[in-house]
Amino acid sequence: MRKIRCSSLPRYAMCPGALTAEDGLKSEDSAVSLAGTEGHGALERYYDRYQEFLRYDPVEVGLRPSISEFLDGLDDMTASRARWYAHVMDGAIEEHGGAVEIHTEVAMSMVLSVVRLIGHNDLTVICADGVTLISDWKFNFLEVPEAAHNIQLMGYALLAIRDETVLADIPGEIHTILIAGGNENPFTAAKYTPASTIALETYIKSIVAGSLADDAKRVPNDDACKYCTASGTTRCPERLEEIGNVPALAMPYEILPNPDKCLELFKAVKMVETFGRKFMSDVKAAVTENPEAWADVFELSNTGNTRTIKDAQDAYNIFVTDNGLVTHEEFMETMKVAIGKLEKACKPVMKERSIPVKDQKMMIARLLGNNLELKEKAKSLKVVKS
Ligand code: SF4
Repeated sequence: MRKIRCSSLPRYAMCPGALTAEDGLKSEDSAVSLAGTEGHGALERYYDRYQEFLRYDPVEVGLRPSISEFLDGLDDMTASRARWYAHVMDGAIEEHGGAVEIHTEVAMSMVLSVVRLIGHNDLTVICADGVTLISDWKFNFLEVPEAAHNIQLMGYALLAIRDETVLADIPGEIHTILIAGGNENPFTAAKYTPASTIALETYIKSIVAGSLADDAKRVPNDDACKYCTASGTTRCPERLEEIGNVPALAMPYEILPNPDKCLELFKAVKMVETFGRKFMSDVKAAVTENPEAWADVFELSNTGNTRTIKDAQDAYNIFVTDNGLVTHEEFMETMKVAIGKLEKACKPVMKERSIPVKDQKMMIARLLGNNLELKEKAKSLKVVKS
């Protein structure tokens, strides 16, 4: 049975033809969705811990956790948003008499006509007054349709009531809560009673039916096309035409043009890649140097912090020797020393010891002996005809 994600419902509502256009295409994580991952992770760890606190004797597990304990390693903006989202949710939980059960990332599904609707919202809280809070956070979206008009959330609400596995017997009303962007954005909420879910189911069924219809039309528009896997491929000629029918666009390999045309495109893409790299770095340098001059068009945005273990031996002692969290082999599997960096680090001393540059690599390889593993790199594509 075909599966439809709740997150795809808004797209199918705007462009019914997208369901067929995307069929069989692999979706890739967008940069935007990946950028919110760390914030989602912090909230997930916080609410998992909160659930532990509910389940066990407080004397054993200590005080109720605070979101602040879970923000290490996040950039300031993400940390501040995670704190705000937790603040909103914790306030809503208190308003409903406190949490009885907390679930993060629950995978839900139900049969809807001839498809299976699937989805997992970020947080589900069953409260003491019988209300279930269904929440989704959108870290990197400044504007999203408010909860009452958000079709993705409607899908989650329906799933929460109809899913027969994890959340069986949700007792009363469902309140969906949508929190997006930064602290300046108010959250929005919508309420569903068991009776109103009949209307919800009818509405979502109509979206699915429209998408499955033989004459389902593709309707290009930026909101729908942004995350559509068919966008920029020959699966959707309308979108191709709209964005200028540029030939060098992604397309499924089974419908690539003939080899000569591919060679032509290959060369064009290489040129664009080279130009793109240089162009991007030049624009970034210009904005860095004079942010005011570019303020209407670009700004420099935080992309998070890199996290590095400074002392590998110390980490080994903690994780392997002292706490037994991983075995020696598992730990070593995570530790790959880059040979290029090692060679570079050895250079000054080898120079002092008058080892000729041409012999340095070989000497390092000899010292490493069996510890140096050679693996063939992935093959690259090379042009054989000009
Ligand atoms: S690219 Fe846009 S128009 Fe084409 S199928 Fe996808 S959502 Fe519809």
